[in-house]
Amino acid sequence: MQRKINFNAGPATLPMEVLQEAAAAVTEYNGTGMSILELPHRGKEFVAIVEESKAIVKDLCELGDDYEVLWLHGGGRQQFFMLPMNFLDKEHDDAAGYIDSGHWSEEALEYATHYGDVQVLTSSKESNYSVLPAWPHTVPAQLKYVHFTSNNTIYGTQFRNIPKCNVPLVADMSSDIFCGRMNYTNCAIFYAAVQKNLGTPGVALVAIRKDMLAMCNKELPPMLSYAAQARENSILNTANVFGIYTSLLMLRWTQKKGIDAIEKENKEKANLLYDTIDKSKVFTGVVKKKADRSMMNVCFTADSEEREKDFLKLCADNNIIGVKGHRSVGGFRVSLYNAMGLDDVTVLCDLMKTFEKI
Ligand SMILES: *Cc1c(COP(=O)(O)O)cnc(C)c1O
Repeated sequence: MQRKINFNAGPATLPMEVLQEAAAAVTEYNGTGMSILELPHRGKEFVAIVEESKAIVKDLCELGDDYEVLWLHGGGRQQFFMLPMNFLDKEHDDAAGYIDSGHWSEEALEYATHYGDVQVLTSSKESNYSVLPAWPHTVPAQLKYVHFTSNNTIYGTQFRNIPKCNVPLVADMSSDIFCGRMNYTNCAIFYAAVQKNLGTPGVALVAIRKDMLAMCNKELPPMLSYAAQARENSILNTANVFGIYTSLLMLRWTQKKGIDAIEKENKEKANLLYDTIDKSKVFTGVVKKKADRSMMNVCFTADSEEREKDFLKLCADNNIIGVKGHRSVGGFRVSLYNAMGLDDVTVLCDLMKTFEKI
């Protein structure tokens, strides 16, 4: 097999050692005489997978015992409605604040309007999300929570610091969790669809401060209640055994490499690509403000549609896929998640330099 250099935004490239270990477990899991695909979800082997994965998440995020870690179904979007369902009640005129920094935060706030009053605290929609909105100076104290998207996958902007907030802060960290050191404990809740930095689609990682569990809506079906999921250790129904196992393999890989080494490499990859773009006469970065630029997703355009097509073809001819930008932005988007190697980013940058000379 010739493996593609895969810059897709998600599902994203995974480390070969994780793929090989997952593949081996499909034949036999850990001397059990069974495939991971056949493993009982309430058996001791799977409970051990859940426990180890929770411990690594807590270690990587420096969380204390005041946090619970959950593995839930439904990827990122299920959190868009599970969150307001748990904490907002229309009959009590409950309100939540949303920071609108791109498509995903917009979709999250739209979902929330079904369950309560939504206040958009700040937005950069008018500039087509090519900058981060200013963080709100004041947050009304009656808000049940404030939601923001730490990395804007489609537009290539990223809040690199998680600020403190006077109401419970909730972060969608789907596309930048574990990209480097962050103040995770400034969040009451953070969640991530795992198919970018942490595994295969369909699963969501949720970390929730335990005081929030007491505030969850008690009328919900248990599947949609954070409190009920926490009580059942995320094994309320048949859990996504293989998906969670793949996330455990990614967590072990992340822990072995170390967050600081990962951050250093992510900065090197991003600097190399942004530098190539900034020095280019053909390519132009979409996000002009350097402080707003994402380490994970880099968006840029070429000087004509013709040239964009030509460059896409050159990439395809060189075994590179996943560089086409989202249709709402156009141009190119290159995703530099944790599992993407510096050598592969170098191949792309060299190709960009060659293309300029054609
Ligand atoms: C990918 C992504 C999602 C969507 O995840 P799904 O699992 O497809 O629902 C949500 N938020 C952000 C920031 C993302 O990058």
